[in-house]
Amino acid sequence: MALLDKTFYLETFGCQMNAHDSEKVIGTLLREGYRQVETEVDAALILYNTCSIRDKAEQKVFNRLNDYKALHKQGKRFAVLGCVAQQEGEKIFERAPYVSLVAGSASYRKLPEMLVQLEAGNNRIAGLDDRQTDQTFETEFTARGNKHRGYITIIEGCDKFCAYCVVPYTRGKERSRTSDSVLTEARRMADAGYTDIQLLGQNVNSYRDSSGKMSFAELLVAVGHVAGIRRVRFTTSHPRDFTRDIVDAIDAVPTLCDHVHLPVQSGSSRVLQRMQREYTLEWYLERIAWIQAARRPISLTTDIIVGFPGETEEDFEQTLSLLAQVGYDAVFAFKYSARPNTPAISMEDSIPEEVKSRRLQALLEFQREIQRTLYSRHIGEIVEVMVEGNNPARGQVSGRSSQNKVVNFTVDSPIYPATGTYMLVRITQSFPNSLLGEAVILGQPSAISAGEEICVV
Ligand code: SF4
Repeated sequence: MALLDKTFYLETFGCQMNAHDSEKVIGTLLREGYRQVETEVDAALILYNTCSIRDKAEQKVFNRLNDYKALHKQGKRFAVLGCVAQQEGEKIFERAPYVSLVAGSASYRKLPEMLVQLEAGNNRIAGLDDRQTDQTFETEFTARGNKHRGYITIIEGCDKFCAYCVVPYTRGKERSRTSDSVLTEARRMADAGYTDIQLLGQNVNSYRDSSGKMSFAELLVAVGHVAGIRRVRFTTSHPRDFTRDIVDAIDAVPTLCDHVHLPVQSGSSRVLQRMQREYTLEWYLERIAWIQAARRPISLTTDIIVGFPGETEEDFEQTLSLLAQVGYDAVFAFKYSARPNTPAISMEDSIPEEVKSRRLQALLEFQREIQRTLYSRHIGEIVEVMVEGNNPARGQVSGRSSQNKVVNFTVDSPIYPATGTYMLVRITQSFPNSLLGEAVILGQPSAISAGEEICVV
């Protein structure tokens, strides 16, 4: 069945990498003459950009396909993109026969050709690279959803093979862009009015400039110096590749944000070894010490998996001790869930679901109290906030600090500041996950010059 009506609906599941991949896929579709619509019902082509990092995310995609399969009878076409597409491959055509296109993220650069096949009526199009490609998906046609903050992927794929993770199998091998192409994109974004850039990679600090010109820290510095850019973040860092010059770069370049996300996953070296994380707790703590010795007040956040096979109560206690020792500003904690084709799926000593749930709950409560204390230390400080939205019903403006903390604040004006405006806010109250304050200066982005050392959160 040929595709005549070039309307599409795209829904994204999962992480920031997926969100940004979708922006590039949308840009590609628009360039190919497609028009984006708001609902499945209005679209001729329905795409799901999927996530398989946890079982629930994967199930959601199949539920969604099931909910809308009747639309196939009206001539609509379905495409499954992303990690579930790569993981399940052509089996998706059996499980959901109304799907016409299945493509993993390492194949997106071939999307225009795949669309031509789709338009010609081909009902079994598969783009599955399976760690073959050395190429990255680069396009000038990225349809960014936010006008002030934008992502730039600098490295795709992963070569680490942590025992629990599907990413090395679904996103292919590590491949970095050239520093020139990253900087060209950053300059283009600055020219378009972006002030906040987030460099992305599954292992962002594994970045190896494919032209050999810059290290990751040097690239950070270069992006931080692009005229018009006021904030640069990067995620996700791997402890194995975290080098001291990253901290030196943050100390030296004011536009690099006061925030490092450094996933640890467990506070037990024994569990880390079983997870194949390639570092010990001591190694990790050495990097934390570098960050905490910086001149800038760098906030730290992390990821934790509870209930990995073989995790004892003692291992779990070591994780709690780590949280107390480091003092993270946020922790993203999840129960271990077995993923297909990963080494951990066949490990012995799986942890009962109720034990995982209990540990997760205990960890979240423990961390909440840590954050309550840490956030209260900001009371009285003046911080720079980039406005993200307004809540007139509560009389509040909402934004984020350089440390990536949510700051809600009041303004002494009937007119709310526009999204993307930078403002100074005096913190008056704190909560475990956010700060409350009042605007000190109402103004345009020029109210504070980029890099002024007034930003203390
Ligand atoms: S470093 Fe480990 S957890 Fe992160 S993407 Fe690679 S395999 Fe997955």
